[in-house]
Amino acid sequence: MVSTGAGVSTESGVPAFRGIGGLWEDFRPEELATPEGFQRDPEKVWKWYDWRRQIIKQVEPNRGHKALVEMQSCFPRFFLFTQNIDGLHQRAGSKNVYELHGNIWRAQCMKEKIRFEFLQTPLDEIPPHCSCGSLIRPDVVWFGEPLPAEIMRTAWDVAANCDFFFMIGSSATVEPAASLAWIARENGGVVVEINEEATAVTEIANEFFLGKSGIILPALIDALKNHD
Ligand code: NAD
Repeated sequence: MVSTGAGVSTESGVPAFRGIGGLWEDFRPEELATPEGFQRDPEKVWKWYDWRRQIIKQVEPNRGHKALVEMQSCFPRFFLFTQNIDGLHQRAGSKNVYELHGNIWRAQCMKEKIRFEFLQTPLDEIPPHCSCGSLIRPDVVWFGEPLPAEIMRTAWDVAANCDFFFMIGSSATVEPAASLAWIARENGGVVVEINEEATAVTEIANEFFLGKSGIILPALIDALKNHD
């Protein structure tokens, strides 16, 4: 089982939330990534998402994303969960990606609750509206909102039964995604962490690789392929 966070995409040029150059340095999360913030000022929230969509549109998957595609082909049972909303794992070629926090390239009608692909950026109309006239919102999970129940159940189940759990590029501060490493460890899984800094997971990790996922992951895959 692999669980990735914003750190996997920083080498592509997508800023993370926390750490140096993180998105929260200049913005307040409660204004931009909460249902209340959206209700208060949908224009402000959509401007921020449109800005992020323009950044993500211009970048490419990096060596870390590509190494995870190769890793998938090395194991008969391989599960990739991500907190990222940028879609870069899929663009790199990963299959069956479980998105814990939604996807920035989808939107949802606030009235009909229908989810749909929403690729236009920059937007003509901010905030954008559905053909039914209602406001639409990014199809992402905001602070205070529950994660998709079915995906979360699968994540819990896979974590409890995996042989190896890789936590890559996540500050391990956002629950419930952060708890998956503990579930894996308590159930006998080997926990491997890759990050540029120590996190709460480091204490329970069997192996901690300090550094960039775009460098460490390809090296790990090479080692895996050359091992009989
Ligand atoms: P986070 O911003 O809290 O932490 C990022 C972590 O990645 C840090 O611990 C940092 O040390 C590490 N890191 C940075 N560059 C790295 C690299 N090259 N190699 C390895 N590690 C590196 O990110 P998080 O834990 O994913 O936070 C969760 C929230 O952030 C989620 O809600 C997610 O949706 C959101 N988010 C997503 C994106 C994206 O889709 N790319 C970007 C920003 C935030």
